[in-house]
Amino acid sequence: MSQKNLRMLLVEDSEDDALLLLRELCRGGYNVEYERVDTGPAMKDALVRREWDIVISDYRMPTFSAPAALNLLKRSGLDLPVIIVSGKIGEDMLVEAMRSGAHDYLIKGNLSRLIPAIERELREAAERRTRRRAEQSIRQGKMEWEAAFDAVSDIVVLTDPQGTIIRCNNKLIQYFHTTYNEVLGRKLIELFYGESEAPDCIFRLCADLKPDEEDVRFPQLPGWFNVSCYPMHPTESKHGYVYVIKDVTGRKRLEEEKRLTDRELLTLYAVAFRLNSRRGSKRIMVDLLSQLHHMLQIDFSCIHLMDKDSLALSASLGLTREFTAAFRTLAKEWAWVREVLDGRSVKSDEIEGHFAGEVAEAAETMGMGAWCALPLKIGSSVIGTLFISHRSTRNYTDRELFLLNSIANQMAVLIENHTLYDRMKEQNEELLRSRRALRENLEEVKRANIELGRLNDVKNNFIGMASHELKTPLTSVIGGLQFLINYSGLEMTPEQKEMLLSVYEGVSQLRGIVDDLLSISRIEATGFAIQKRPVRLAALCREVRQTLVLPLSEREIEVTIEDDPCSVPADEGFCRLVIRNLLENAIKFTPDGGRITITGRLAAPDELAAQADELRFFYRDFPENITGVDAFYRLDVADTGVGIPREERARIFDKFYGVGDIAYHSSGKTGFMSKGSGLGLSIVKGIIDAHGGMVWVFPGEEGVGSVFSLLFPLDNACVMPRRGATGPGKE
Ligand code: ADP
Repeated sequence: MSQKNLRMLLVEDSEDDALLLLRELCRGGYNVEYERVDTGPAMKDALVRREWDIVISDYRMPTFSAPAALNLLKRSGLDLPVIIVSGKIGEDMLVEAMRSGAHDYLIKGNLSRLIPAIERELREAAERRTRRRAEQSIRQGKMEWEAAFDAVSDIVVLTDPQGTIIRCNNKLIQYFHTTYNEVLGRKLIELFYGESEAPDCIFRLCADLKPDEEDVRFPQLPGWFNVSCYPMHPTESKHGYVYVIKDVTGRKRLEEEKRLTDRELLTLYAVAFRLNSRRGSKRIMVDLLSQLHHMLQIDFSCIHLMDKDSLALSASLGLTREFTAAFRTLAKEWAWVREVLDGRSVKSDEIEGHFAGEVAEAAETMGMGAWCALPLKIGSSVIGTLFISHRSTRNYTDRELFLLNSIANQMAVLIENHTLYDRMKEQNEELLRSRRALRENLEEVKRANIELGRLNDVKNNFIGMASHELKTPLTSVIGGLQFLINYSGLEMTPEQKEMLLSVYEGVSQLRGIVDDLLSISRIEATGFAIQKRPVRLAALCREVRQTLVLPLSEREIEVTIEDDPCSVPADEGFCRLVIRNLLENAIKFTPDGGRITITGRLAAPDELAAQADELRFFYRDFPENITGVDAFYRLDVADTGVGIPREERARIFDKFYGVGDIAYHSSGKTGFMSKGSGLGLSIVKGIIDAHGGMVWVFPGEEGVGSVFSLLFPLDNACVMPRRGATGPGKE
């Protein structure tokens, strides 16, 4: 027989009786662990100290009893089976013991029932424990479920198949500010809709079991809700339904916010999109207004732009004809207009007090409600106003005003850009017109030029022909005169001789002019046929000076010539002509007793660089015109004469320049300040240019007189004088 453990608290005063009991238990196959107590405190202590399977108690003890022990056990809250084992027991004692909670009783003299009684009591105690645990767990489960049910943030309602509420969580109670009992038994639809009629779908969703996609509003509750419905049993609807009603007001608000933001962004984008539009400013303004109407559900709008000092209506949408007529310019005496012109926006839901006269009347008739006016600003300056209005009197929120202000700022830039673009377009068209006219004029000028060229050719031909025809008789006349004066041996009075000399001088002068004319007409007709060979320019200068000894001594003008002993590749005949012209001019424009200095020397291109700006005055493409030339021969003809004003310096090389008053033309070729044909310097320039050189004139030292400079390129290398040949050097 297997041993069973038994933990027994024995309430007994007699040691012998205890042993008797133990023996009986051993016999029954129990391995007993026990403690004997016979007072209340001892029993209490034993109960607290450890766990027991059973309590076996004597009925009566000197200081303790079975009813007292039962009482103590009851107070401890422990559920232990108690069997009373007594010497003898009366009926009244038995009743008392059973009433106090004893489970069985036995007589000490007859313990045969002890083992079965213990086993039965132990079994029943175990059953009681199991049941208690099950009940406890049910209670716990219920509590947890109810807590969870109430903690759900949605309203959860359970109904029977007919829609009567059979259970709900605390959320429903809180939403309706009611009590649980008030809600139980009511129809769900009636609780949420009251007297109002419920839309079809709500609370009739059990058929398709899906959460409703649409959010709803209930007349009895503020905000937005989403309703889902599930049957309590997966397949049978007879058990009723579970409704989950979610408060989606927050989400709805966010969605609304997003919708608003999207609309605002779209409006701003629509305005910004037009920034690149090429349409005219008028059309773009109306387009912008229609965007605003569409996006922001505006009924009336208009734009006034600053025109000189007044705000003129420039675009409008939705306005009646009367209002448009009355609103054509904005009256600056209205306070709100001044506010807007100061850069601040104004809003109101009233007409009275803000508008007057015809405008107020037309606004009333048009049905204008809330309105606002915003400045169109570029930086800090107001270029106009944007006026918008609704039929409703719901005033604009700060948010709407903020958006409108951003739109107005963008519109201002847009309008300004387009106005500028329009103006630019106009100017461009004007420019195109001018260009067309210019092209036509140019054609005219071209035609005139061709005609001029033709006339010039005719003139040159005529001059050439006339000079040629004049030259032969003039030569004969001069020859005749020379003969008459020098060799004829005619007897003449001094007056006659002086007259003849004067005729001779006049005819010589005339031949000079004819020579010049002939040269220039040849140059123009065929250009210069330069034939270069080594030429000693200084020697040429001396030669020319020799021919002018007479006028030089008459005018007491001294000519000094200095040169580098070097030959220049040039056309000797033309060079003589050049030197002659320059020397004659120097004599003509130098007062009596003056000085002329001619200096010839080698020159490098670098030395001209310092005077580049001045030289460009004579040769626009300097220094490109002399590139590739490494060395030059430079001849300076300086005089102490009257000089040449700066503004005339380049022009004196033009043909016929300085012809001047005809009265001077009688004073001869070398008389002070006498005038010639005006061709001399243009011939000089033509010859020098044909040599690939340059000619220019600067004032003399300290601004006195003029220095004419000639530059000959030494492209064939400088030709040095033969060994032993004596250069004239400095005089
Ligand atoms: P012209 O034969 O009439 O002298 P040029 O072409 O030789 O014509 O000279 C043109 C003008 O340049 C002259 O009328 C004179 O005004 C000016 N001119 C030329 N050389 C000198 C000079 N050495 N000094 C001052 N003026 C001069």
